[in-house]
Amino acid sequence: MNSVKESTSPKRGLSLPVFHPDFMAEAHVASADAVLHAALDNSVTKKDYGRRISLAELPDADGLRQLAGDIKRHTLDHLDYYLELLERNVIKHGGAVYFAATHEEANGLIVDIARRTGSKLVVKSKSMVSEETELNDALIAAGIEPLETDLGEFILQVDNDHPTHIVMPVIHKNAAEIGKIFARYFKTPFTDNPQELAEMARVYLRNRFNQADMGISGVNFAVAETGSIVLCTNEGNGRMCTTRPRVHVALMGMEKVIPALDDLPVFLKLLARSASGQALTQYTNIITGCRRPGEHDGPEELHLVIMDNGRSRILAGEYRDTLRCIRCGACLNACPIYRKVGGRTYGSVYPGPIGALLTPLFNGLENHKHLPHASSLCGACFEACPVKINIPEFLIKLKRDEVRQGITKRPERTIFKLWAWGLQHAWSYRLGQVVQRVVLRSIGSKDGWIKKLPGPAAGWTAQRDFPMPAKHDFRYLYKQYRAGEKRGK
Ligand code: SF4
Repeated sequence: MNSVKESTSPKRGLSLPVFHPDFMAEAHVASADAVLHAALDNSVTKKDYGRRISLAELPDADGLRQLAGDIKRHTLDHLDYYLELLERNVIKHGGAVYFAATHEEANGLIVDIARRTGSKLVVKSKSMVSEETELNDALIAAGIEPLETDLGEFILQVDNDHPTHIVMPVIHKNAAEIGKIFARYFKTPFTDNPQELAEMARVYLRNRFNQADMGISGVNFAVAETGSIVLCTNEGNGRMCTTRPRVHVALMGMEKVIPALDDLPVFLKLLARSASGQALTQYTNIITGCRRPGEHDGPEELHLVIMDNGRSRILAGEYRDTLRCIRCGACLNACPIYRKVGGRTYGSVYPGPIGALLTPLFNGLENHKHLPHASSLCGACFEACPVKINIPEFLIKLKRDEVRQGITKRPERTIFKLWAWGLQHAWSYRLGQVVQRVVLRSIGSKDGWIKKLPGPAAGWTAQRDFPMPAKHDFRYLYKQYRAGEKRGK
């Protein structure tokens, strides 16, 4: 856990911030971290179980997932059309729309809006895309105070830490750690009582909501047909951020648009179920335009910032379907690797199976060459995904790209070339079998297990034993069996 905390200063210059580039080194530390495992077991496993139960209650969950995936695919195939439609309809309802090509542009636009409206304190609801742009740093650099109001994000902000799960950002900390953070921050006696901790944050944040000039939110879905922004939250802070301050800025990746209001229930039925096993999140906000005459709440100004930041490049290639992601986190909860190493190991803002895809796609495979291998390819992520992104298939394609781009090391390439050649000829295949049987049996113990493999294979036995091959192979035994049969006749 401690070494995890050391690696919190992100590097930039890429589409996504990188907290550390070395998956293997972090995985070694995290896989031995008992506190992290307890925290993950306590939350991730339960959420995955909840997802299964909750989806089983639907009459045709698989059909609904297919429909959601099809709607997303259709939208991505006609993204220019739906983004223009969204823009027209937001403007029609009194909002303003901006397109940002990069994260720097998106941050710059938001800072400009804050300056123009004289906003000094900005309250934020949870938004992964603002983590992607490192919006808080940009606001602070401009002399504007950002305040996270989602409880998990607030804890991370006061501890100068980063989220490690798409939906449950503070999953890597237990109540005792949070108690210490709050005791330090609020200068109060230590408590690890979750209710008391939540109450401390609630009282503090409530007061600050009243002082804020501007609220910033992400966007779960943007409905092109009506120009509506949909926010799904569980804490109500999203509603406070978007209604209490006089200015609301919503920041979205351009893939978040959906065609029509009729499509929304499909995603609402799946999002909360997939994320946490709930039928719906506690709050589902559909925001269409700013405050109208006679209304009691809502912002005077609504600004929608639609960001590309590398998405067009992904859209144009064979990985387009990865942009269907609705950031539910179900693939993280289902993934046996994520459950062992936690989110920080993945090194960027998007962890888990979808992060193993998105991070190299955004930042370049050469900068994250371990991530396509951070998977057992068991298919649990594909099975969990509410929009049916075939993550294992895309990970295999990224591995193929590694070879094509010459990113894999020469010895590895040579070994696999030899292996492929050996499998193409019956004689070399048989010879290889004989050699490996003789070698492995010579280093095995009497109990039938090999404790230490030689050369590059030693990594396998560093963590586990390897079974010794049988004295005779199947081909030999089969021949013996047939010979016995003939004799029997
Ligand atoms: S890839 Fe699928 S399961 Fe994973 S976060 Fe995205 S929508 Fe959810």
